[in-house]
Amino acid sequence: MNTARTVLVTGGAGFIGSHTCVELLERGHDVITVDDHSNSSPVALDRVQKLAGRPLTAYTADLRDRAALDAVFAAHPIDAVIHFGAKKAVNESTEIPLEYFDVNVGGTSALLRAMGAHGVHDLVFSSSCSIYGETTRVPLTESDPPRPTNPYAHSKWMGEQMLADVCRLLPELRVAALRYFNPLGAHPSGDLGEDPTGVPNNLLPYVAQVAVGRRERLRVFGDDYPTPDGTCVRDYIHVLDVAGAHCLALDRLVEGLQVLNLGTGVGSSVLDVVAAFEAASGCSVPYEVQGRRPGDVAVLVADPSRAESVLGWHATRDLTAMCADAWRFQRANPAGYAG
Ligand code: UDP
Repeated sequence: MNTARTVLVTGGAGFIGSHTCVELLERGHDVITVDDHSNSSPVALDRVQKLAGRPLTAYTADLRDRAALDAVFAAHPIDAVIHFGAKKAVNESTEIPLEYFDVNVGGTSALLRAMGAHGVHDLVFSSSCSIYGETTRVPLTESDPPRPTNPYAHSKWMGEQMLADVCRLLPELRVAALRYFNPLGAHPSGDLGEDPTGVPNNLLPYVAQVAVGRRERLRVFGDDYPTPDGTCVRDYIHVLDVAGAHCLALDRLVEGLQVLNLGTGVGSSVLDVVAAFEAASGCSVPYEVQGRRPGDVAVLVADPSRAESVLGWHATRDLTAMCADAWRFQRANPAGYAG
């Protein structure tokens, strides 16, 4: 348990990836990242190393480039992989579905082949609560049936199915698939946060950019859902709680595939998030209600008890902390990492 290992982190410069790299380095692991920077900045990796006080080794590559992946595995004694590198926006996936299957499913299969070729058996896979899809169950357990409603969610469910099959056939594999609910927040230093390329697809970066004056108003996608205020309810979770769970999952891998929800068990509506962010920032966040966004579902809230019993993990930070940390990053970096 908790011996230092060499960990390959795909998508290491991204939002969850970069926060996880800090946690890994602080726990003594050596970190190698592979990222194509299609939705991330290399500056995040500079910040990671500064915060952790230790270096990492970074490669710029597309995961579907087997030769590039082989070169990374050949150059380092990699013990385990944390696989974040993927496309992640529900609405974008309805516009460019094949890109989502190619990157998310193709990238995962290329990575598994490279791991196999280099004798690496340990993997933590980024899955998503979106695979539960059109569900009426609150809260959701890992045994609730997946009903994906969009190509992003399908691509994550296909990734899990691929992993379930290869784990059955290759018993030496030790895999955890972590189904994140909605990660928010930032590193409390204000140096590391969420900085999507272009117009943000996700709620909190959009809200933060409205608060800081980069965008005029939030578009609330639908207020006619069967929820208390009519807007969608999600289980928002602090990115550092998610990052910590990855480190624990890495320490506690067992043969086969383990599937774990990462959430708080608490649901918040879009308007709850707006109010919490206004309170944390002292800024107003004007919004207008628009029609529903394709692929959205009304309520997704986790039952996180399996992660508690398997990993001894539970989320420790609430929506107020998530908004305060996100705001600190946004204020210190009004134009993101490019500023
Ligand atoms: N949302 C919104 N306006 C935005 C972005 C998101 O109203 O600009 C809503 C979206 O419809 C959903 C919730 O916020 O109900 C969370 O969306 P997000 O894209 O952050 O995460 P998802 O749950 O889709 O993975």
